[in-house]
Amino acid sequence: MLLGNYNPIRIQTMTTSNTMDTMATVEQSIRCIEAGAELVRITAPSKNEAENLRNIKSELHKRGYTTPLVADIHFTPNAAEIAARIVEKVRVNPGNYVDKKKFEQIDYTDAEYAEEIDRIRERFTPLVKICKEYGTAMRIGTNHGSLSDRIMSRYGDTANGMVESAMEFLRIARNESYHNIILSMKSSNPQVMVQAYRLLVHTMDREFGECYPLHLGVTEAGDGEDGRIKSAIGIGSLLEDGIGDTIRVSLTEDPEFEIPVCKDLVKRYNEREKKTAGQQAIPAIDKIPYSPFEYKRRDSYEVGNAGKKQVPVVVADFMQAGSIGHQDLQAIGYTYNEATDKWNIGDAAADYIYTGTKKPGFALPGTLKIICDYETWLTAEDKTKYFPLYNGASYLLHNERSGIMNFVSVDASSADASEILQKIRKDDTVVLCIWSSHAHTMPSVRRYIMELMNQNIKCPVILAVESHENNIDDQLIHFSAEAGALLLDGMGDGIWLMNDPSKLVNAKVSGRTYLASNNNQQFINNTSFSILQATRTRISKTEYISCPSCGRTLFDLQETTAKIRAVTNHLKGLKIAIMGCIVNGPGEMADADFGYVGSGPGKITLYKGKEIVKRNVDSEIAVDELIGLLRDNKAWIEP
Ligand code: SF4
Repeated sequence: MLLGNYNPIRIQTMTTSNTMDTMATVEQSIRCIEAGAELVRITAPSKNEAENLRNIKSELHKRGYTTPLVADIHFTPNAAEIAARIVEKVRVNPGNYVDKKKFEQIDYTDAEYAEEIDRIRERFTPLVKICKEYGTAMRIGTNHGSLSDRIMSRYGDTANGMVESAMEFLRIARNESYHNIILSMKSSNPQVMVQAYRLLVHTMDREFGECYPLHLGVTEAGDGEDGRIKSAIGIGSLLEDGIGDTIRVSLTEDPEFEIPVCKDLVKRYNEREKKTAGQQAIPAIDKIPYSPFEYKRRDSYEVGNAGKKQVPVVVADFMQAGSIGHQDLQAIGYTYNEATDKWNIGDAAADYIYTGTKKPGFALPGTLKIICDYETWLTAEDKTKYFPLYNGASYLLHNERSGIMNFVSVDASSADASEILQKIRKDDTVVLCIWSSHAHTMPSVRRYIMELMNQNIKCPVILAVESHENNIDDQLIHFSAEAGALLLDGMGDGIWLMNDPSKLVNAKVSGRTYLASNNNQQFINNTSFSILQATRTRISKTEYISCPSCGRTLFDLQETTAKIRAVTNHLKGLKIAIMGCIVNGPGEMADADFGYVGSGPGKITLYKGKEIVKRNVDSEIAVDELIGLLRDNKAWIEP
């Protein structure tokens, strides 16, 4: 199988069974292969598991499955050296292949640092030589959460540190004339992940004048919609720019469930060339007005509650609703109590509804405002609650304006898009709602926003993303990749997702069923807030960083994650990590506030940040102990 260059983007996953259980691993690998996995990774924590890869491979071959296998190595060079003689590829983590992690700050002189690199060379070169001899490929897989103390001490917890960690290993391999290499830069935070991959491409290109293939993934993405959205944002943002050769979507679910998500993601890009054929090219740009390697929100002024330092607003689209009643607002975060005539406002409550030509005949919640068509706005009585939406032509034509906010919808690829810019630059009440009819939509919108930046036009921007996909899973990927990619680069003061509910069949996103007829609004609203949460631009709920589990896992991760989620999902803004093992878990928890980590059969160790607070708690009582820990640290609120 060929990977990299212009070969198709390959799909892969990792088994969660015990590697010493040959039959269980074989069965699970087959389920993944049948689902579409083109590579299957298996953990090899010690020499025994590495040796057993031979039995697994041979059983798979006996059953007619020749899909390449990848050995996943952490901490154990001797296991890697065995595995490299057996399977098609080994993955090493430069954060722990030679270095150890004790969360220590170490000050090295340049000479001492160079000595450390020599030590790595000595330990790593034998594996490179074996790989060369056996034709085995290698992934140098850096994880944001498991950078070594040495790298952390010199570069900090940064994208730069991640890149340098991989480059040290890559330089050693190149010196041995070994090039059968692929690299990854994973993080549970899509923003860090995207920046690190970009920086890696830039660094390889600058240093070698060529780039090695890349394996993309958001690590510890979690489960359900959140896991899918985080993954689609991180992986999709890079694939949009042609970066990435193979992908893994890491979900805290059975590995075969990762494959359909990978397929949905990859097919967007396999079909992209066909869709853009014959379309006008997006204009080239001389000056990129932002750094692709660090986050900085685009500078905008404040219009109403949009722009500047305010969190991005959410617009709920009610254009297609026949009528709008009290109950309809429940799906977008507002629950009406008839007895008290009061609204209960949730953490994920939309800020605006777009009603088209409709005017709801009841008093709206105080925080909810209406965007409607220009002609409808003209007839609205309360001009502090209703705001007009113009399209480009009507904005140029009509002079009557709201004194507070005027929403202008613009197709970034249209002929009049630049004329509109000249007009709105003098109007500090405009909020642009940008979309694009170009098949390469996100880059087209991004190009237009860059033009705003280069021309110093500072009106807030709402990302208007429309999905024509026929099912909810594809729509989820579409919305996440299109809007998420821009939000990660600081572009976007609001989000407005649109779909055609009549096209949707009843679909399930990880256990949650949305009936297209009545819950489409809820799906769109949840997706909007989850995209903002995953891009860390607006926090409205608890964040879970949970590992996908593997052969090292010491408890039922899926069940435990669900249990913890059930009791903590009201703790807005808190980051809780749920990790399967103490070997990698603490390192990989990245920036979690609290950690729940398997430390032995039936035993859990609880963390506050990177610090152990309770060791080897009985798993029966560990969730209660976690709640106690949250209470002690004033992070608990009664539900
Ligand atoms: S943290 Fe989870 S996925 Fe990573 S090695 Fe441990 S059990 Fe496996």
